[in-house]
Amino acid sequence: RGLVIAIDGPSGSGKSSASKGVARALGLRYLDTGAMYRALTWWFIAQKADTSDEAVIAARAAEPVIEVSADPDDPWTRVNGTDVSLDIRTVQVSSQVSAVARVPAVREHLIARQRAIIADAADGIVAEGRDIGTVVAPAAQLKVFLTADPSARARRRAAEISADTAETEAAQARRDRLDAAQSEKAADALLLDATDLTLEQVIDEIARLARE
Ligand code: C5P
Repeated sequence: RGLVIAIDGPSGSGKSSASKGVARALGLRYLDTGAMYRALTWWFIAQKADTSDEAVIAARAAEPVIEVSADPDDPWTRVNGTDVSLDIRTVQVSSQVSAVARVPAVREHLIARQRAIIADAADGIVAEGRDIGTVVAPAAQLKVFLTADPSARARRRAAEISADTAETEAAQARRDRLDAAQSEKAADALLLDATDLTLEQVIDEIARLARE
C-alpha cells in the first residue's frame, strides 16, 4: 500500500495549500474531500433543492456524478462532466455546504468514493478534509491536524476570496460550529498550529514528518 497522509483541520488553516504542496514535494496524488461536499452542494443549489431538507438531500445524494482530479498541480472538480472548480468556492456554497455534509447518506456516499480514490492511488496520496484521520483513512501512516487561531484563519481566507475579514470571521465561526461533529482530531494525529508559520514552513514540516 502507498503512503497515505491525512491532513484535517478547519477552513482557513491553510490545509488546501499545504496539502497540495506536500503532494508536490513528495510526488504523491492529492484528494480534496471538501471539494466533493462543495460540488454536491453546488448541484443541489443548481437543482433549486432546499439544502436544509434532509430527506431530499439524502434521497438525491448519489444522483450527480462528481469527479475530482488527483493532480495537485491541476485540482479541478466536475459535476456531470461540467467543470465547477470556481463555482464551488462561492459564499452561497460555503454557507450551505455544512447542512449538506451533515446528512448521513451524503457522508456514506462520499466517504465510499473517497476511500476508492485513496485505494487507487498506489503510489500514495495526501487527502485533506475534516474526518480523514478519524473516518475516511484511519490507517493513514501520517495524520496531521492543522489549525491556526481564528483571526489568522479569517485573514487568510478573506485574502483568498477577496472578502471582508470581519464578515469572513463570522461566517467561519458559524461553519466551525456546524462542522464540529465531523471535525474531531484523531487521537494519533499531530497537532500543527500554523498561526505563526509560513506556508513553506508548514509544507516542510509535514514533508519532514513523512520522511521520518
Ligand atoms: O475544506 P472545505 O472548507 O472546502 O470543506 C467544505 C465543507 O465540506 C466543510 O465546511 C464541511 O462542512 C464539509 N466537509 C466535511 N468533511 C470533509 C471535508 C469537508 O464534512 N472531510
